[in-house]
Amino acid sequence: MSQSLWAEQALLPEGWARHVLLRWNEAGTLLQVTPGTSTEELPAGTHRASGPVIPGMPNLHSHAFQRAFAGLTEYRDQGQDSFWTWRTLMYRFAARLSPEQMEAIATWLYIEMLQAGYTSVCEFHYIHHDADGRAYSDDGALAHSLLRAAKRAGIGMTLLPVLYQTSGFGGTPPNEGQRRFIRSTDNMLALLDKLRPACDLQGVRLGVAPHSLRAVPPASLNAVLAGLDSISPNAPIHIHIAEQTAEVEACLAWSGQRPVQWLMNHAQVDSRWCLVHATHMDEAEYRGAAQSGAVAGLCPTTEANLGDGIFDFPAWRSFGGAWGVGSDSHACVDPAEDLLMLEYSQRLALRRRNIGSDSEHSQVARAIWLQAVAGGAQAAGRSVQGLVPGQQADFIVLDEKHVALQGLPADLMLASHVFASSRSRAISSVWTGGRQRVKDGFHPLQSEAIEAFVRSRTELLST
Ligand code: ZN
Repeated sequence: MSQSLWAEQALLPEGWARHVLLRWNEAGTLLQVTPGTSTEELPAGTHRASGPVIPGMPNLHSHAFQRAFAGLTEYRDQGQDSFWTWRTLMYRFAARLSPEQMEAIATWLYIEMLQAGYTSVCEFHYIHHDADGRAYSDDGALAHSLLRAAKRAGIGMTLLPVLYQTSGFGGTPPNEGQRRFIRSTDNMLALLDKLRPACDLQGVRLGVAPHSLRAVPPASLNAVLAGLDSISPNAPIHIHIAEQTAEVEACLAWSGQRPVQWLMNHAQVDSRWCLVHATHMDEAEYRGAAQSGAVAGLCPTTEANLGDGIFDFPAWRSFGGAWGVGSDSHACVDPAEDLLMLEYSQRLALRRRNIGSDSEHSQVARAIWLQAVAGGAQAAGRSVQGLVPGQQADFIVLDEKHVALQGLPADLMLASHVFASSRSRAISSVWTGGRQRVKDGFHPLQSEAIEAFVRSRTELLST
């Protein structure tokens, strides 16, 4: 049995098309995307989209538990707060988290993602052990919390268990705040093996994330990549890199090379890789990393929140680099807002407008939405490349009755959704795997998920 939806207008990879029939199978895979289909030709039971249809956005970088902590660090604690002072507070919060709290926080977060138009998530999962740093009796307990949350919310997932071993370049031992993160390389490969059946059953893509060059020594990086190759040669590999200038300086002091330069010289970086942030690169690094086929994992609102710096978007794109967006620390959970922040950070830095348009798409919102879907899908290692046969039926129906959109052509509706919907969401419904998860802004589990989320946050703040 298949299902179908007909849209007056839909955004395909090449641009807007009219009278589009989308048809998918029971597994939620698109079988047909056919423009020019008249309403008389529709299969029985075809849904009619109430507004323009655009592809769902893959979220390429998330630390789910941090959602419960968003907004709680916006005060000055020291003479000069930075990423590093924020991290100390985040570690204190992470130290107390239970598997039940992880599931509650992630379930509500994933519902929020769906409501905002993120249809899948790459979960960069680094809290593995109990509060004392000992393995749970089920070593994958916290990973299973995340898998259950994704299943309940109905969001697609790429699970990236994180390898974390040292607190700094040159093998500095981990500190007290990092005790829940630490695994040997063999232990990490064993975890991947253990998680695989549950991931396969749920359609979750399993990859691995060496946390960063400061947290994974060279021998361990080689070993985990070799181990991954023998388990799953095409699996996604994500790494935090060059987010902070202090990290660049420490890497230079340790190796004489900048982080991205070092990585390019010591690992076979290719299209499986997602370089998360990659903010501080010199021109040769921008060229080398972009041309390697790796995706730049941009998290513009988190990078702004943490004072990381500004990615050189024109340089990356001039070398043909792929990119996507992630909500990372979840200070903001909305792909439209992250795309807005990306474009605006470029305008502020360059004192120009409309940086994100490209040769095929002069409309900035259309260009950056499509590019971020393509790069996000590549980073996810899942079939979520947009409205194309063979890909997942993951899509958003825009709300043409929203005041920012009413009466406009579809292209300007998307532009208004990204640039002018006034911090509301001009979204009518959200579908993943061909199933409607959000309708008129509501998700069926919303009330109970909010209750459990607030309870968990209160517990975490009071212990
Ligand atoms: Zn991150």
